[in-house]
Amino acid sequence: MRLRDLPSVDELARQSEDPLAVEAARTVVARAREQIQQGDDPGDLRLHLQAELDAARAPRLRRVLNATGVIVHTNLGRAPLAEAALDRVREIARGYSNLEYDVAAGGRGSRQDHVAGLLRRLTGAEAALVVNNNAAAVMLALAALAEGREVLVSRGELIEIGDGFRIPDVLERSGATLREVGTTNRTRAADYETAIGAETAVLLRVHQSNFRLVGFTAQPSRRELADVAHRHDLPLVDDLGSGALVDVGDEPTARASLAGGADLVCFSGDKLLGGPQAGIVVGRADLVEQLRRHPLQRALRADKLTLAALEGTLALALEAPDQIPVVRMLREPLEAVRARAVRLAELVGGEVEETVARAGGGALPLTALPSFACAVEEELAAKLRAGDPPVIAVVRDGRTLLDCRTLTDAEADEAAAAVERARR
Ligand SMILES: *Cc1c(COP(=O)(O)O)cnc(C)c1O
Repeated sequence: MRLRDLPSVDELARQSEDPLAVEAARTVVARAREQIQQGDDPGDLRLHLQAELDAARAPRLRRVLNATGVIVHTNLGRAPLAEAALDRVREIARGYSNLEYDVAAGGRGSRQDHVAGLLRRLTGAEAALVVNNNAAAVMLALAALAEGREVLVSRGELIEIGDGFRIPDVLERSGATLREVGTTNRTRAADYETAIGAETAVLLRVHQSNFRLVGFTAQPSRRELADVAHRHDLPLVDDLGSGALVDVGDEPTARASLAGGADLVCFSGDKLLGGPQAGIVVGRADLVEQLRRHPLQRALRADKLTLAALEGTLALALEAPDQIPVVRMLREPLEAVRARAVRLAELVGGEVEETVARAGGGALPLTALPSFACAVEEELAAKLRAGDPPVIAVVRDGRTLLDCRTLTDAEADEAAAAVERARR
């Protein structure tokens, strides 16, 4: 085809009744022009137009297969939900619910009541509150308890959590002033003690989620910090980041934090807990009530789909934690992961390779989870991403590694089919 044989955008668009046809034809003609200029044949433009229209209608937010070995992968949507949690979402979302209705009394109820009981049982807390995410939870805690006053936090805990978001920048938006104590590597209980003044409203502890300080370091224990706070009649707020409800590695649990003296504990719903995106606050009833009554609570509250998924996940955390996908992936015996990698390698003619999986989500940064992958040709990585569903893998030493700790058995079969298609 020569440039002057190219149809105009309108001519090509007339081949279709589709209201999106002009937009799609513009893309197709522009691409064809480039191809001709590079000496390539653009092919059948009518077929390209149809493909463009199909692509425009396909959902943009799509399911992918996570073959990276990073379990709580923030870019890939963090925690896959358990079946039981999905059932709860479907049931609540498809019709009306008692979200804010007290069925027994026949009047207004609170959306916070549905998961509060489970959270109390799981953590031993007096009260609980759920908002949109953990960043919102910490911001709300500081807004409600320290607006216009000071919050003491260790220099070693002013962290960046990813994509350039820094905890101190988020927290300043609460209207509280952060006052840094100690040094980057060493902070002592006495540093907080001397910094406490008339303006101090809260002592904040931020879990060093995604990094660890090693060498010449010191941080007061939670108990020491709680003792300092309580001697001055101040609350200790503990941002656990991921937090955990069931024991996984050395990640602190919300229960241990409360038992260690924290007055409020904030953590994420979709990190190691393995539920939906949410920010959970548990702790002293009078403080939780102050958060609940703060105007920002209305802007940051969790929606009913989140609450339904969270209730389903929390019920499993109590009764059958291994049915939560994140917990299952973290705890799966190495032999079972290896068996999956062997099967995948047999299906695609790949090689079984030892790898290291990660918890991800800024949790357990030092914990290397032994894992196994199926290694295939390096050039397949981009084609696997372009497939349907896209398969996201890791390229290392000239090969594409499909880590089997983050694939289910059924997903490993899908990955095998994807490799076959990518090779064609
Ligand atoms: C991840 C993290 C947050 C933010 O939690 P989101 O649920 O992503 O909003 C806050 N603090 C710490 C310490 C974290 O690790």
